[in-house]
Amino acid sequence: MSQLNNVLVRVENAAKTINLDRQTLDTLQGFKMVWTCDLEAGMDDGSLRRFKAVRIWHRSPHVDQPHKGGIRFHPAVNEEMMKAHAIEMSIKCWLMNLAWGGAKGGVAIDPVQHSIRELKAVTEKLVDEMDERNILGPFRDVPAPDVGTNPKIMNWIRQRYAQRRRHMEDTHFAGVVTGKPVGYGFGGLLGRNEATGYGMTVVLERILRDSKFGDAYLRHNPSTVAIMGFGNVGAHFAQFIKEKFPIFKIIAVSDINGGVFNQEGLNIHKLIEHREATGSILNAPATESISNDELLELNCDILAPAALEKVITSDNADRIKAKIILEGANGPTTPEADEILRLNNVLVIPDILANAGGVTVSFFEWARNLGIKDERVPLAYTEHVLSRLSEMMTASTDEVINIAQRHKTDLRNAAYITAIQRAAPLFRSKHLTD
Ligand code: NAD
Repeated sequence: MSQLNNVLVRVENAAKTINLDRQTLDTLQGFKMVWTCDLEAGMDDGSLRRFKAVRIWHRSPHVDQPHKGGIRFHPAVNEEMMKAHAIEMSIKCWLMNLAWGGAKGGVAIDPVQHSIRELKAVTEKLVDEMDERNILGPFRDVPAPDVGTNPKIMNWIRQRYAQRRRHMEDTHFAGVVTGKPVGYGFGGLLGRNEATGYGMTVVLERILRDSKFGDAYLRHNPSTVAIMGFGNVGAHFAQFIKEKFPIFKIIAVSDINGGVFNQEGLNIHKLIEHREATGSILNAPATESISNDELLELNCDILAPAALEKVITSDNADRIKAKIILEGANGPTTPEADEILRLNNVLVIPDILANAGGVTVSFFEWARNLGIKDERVPLAYTEHVLSRLSEMMTASTDEVINIAQRHKTDLRNAAYITAIQRAAPLFRSKHLTD
């Protein structure tokens, strides 16, 4: 099944549990905008090269509010996958009480194969094409970093968007994108870079402490952690989980080239230093090599997939030995795998809850850029940002736990139900005014 089908099945399951009306379900499964384009960008050798670009807006009941979602630079970017992630973004925003519609997009490009100048040319072309079709804007569509993109690329988006309106007196250009660098004139917010990994630890802690969900796992004294993906999400999660639970041992981490393992626990700071020095986590001192497939099937308590989608499927779910799967990536587990994991008593903490920290702090950044008054927006210091994020994620996790208990269902279905129940009345009232 495609990633899009996986998400549609999940929306449908939640709709069935709460007897959602057909019209609202149809709306939830539809898209407001599907944009694809062949970008032509100049390469260092003077040639022009063409790349497929995609941007999707999921349906949203929030009139006059932007669509929100990451921009991915990865060879596998395509329309179907971006549609799946756009729906997940809506669900995530509604779950976190953010009045945004979901979006997702990207460029089918392998960033590792290109120079900084080439990546900048591709980014600027993307902004030009999106802007010419009136897609971008602080109240239309606000991108953020995702796989293969980062604060530097977000800053190129901000700069290009501002350049294209040089003649206009508008101070709000920074609000066109989030996840920007922090510093004078960039408009980024301290804590945004760390937010997704930090949020994962907040949700994990809350669930471990819950008397119904977590008790069984706490009794077992969870202590060993394996993390697939050591980019923004995986590496920050690794650092924060050690801070929050010093007794935990991170026994394995990996990236696209493979992983490293130490049963006694990896030294994450040393690993980051090794990566900075050599460009890779591989062959770090005091580690053994391990493949990504082996990492997924390691004997550990907590497995955090934090790279790409569909890595836990019906092919390997039966061999997963972790007690808890904490989804940092979007869509790492298929619905068939969910069922096998449920039968094997593995607790899955779903992506739409576990990794919602990034979009929540993006909301703080955007609201500050635009001077929007919202009592939830914290002061611009890391500790204020992360502490407000923690309050909001704990509240959403509590709600998901309550819904799961009320409907006797799993955390993923409960998270979808929580989000859909928030948006459904808004869709119904929108139908009346459309
Ligand atoms: P990133 O580009 O910073 O890091 C991705 C990591 O995954 C890298 O370590 C890369 O080497 C590794 N990787 C790539 N392909 C792999 C493969 N085939 N096998 C194993 N490892 C592989 O990206 P990120 O921002 O950390 O995003 C990771 C996941 O988290 C994605 O699913 C993304 O959609 C999701 N996510 C990110 C954010 C955010 O704030 N950045 C927020 C929510 C969800």
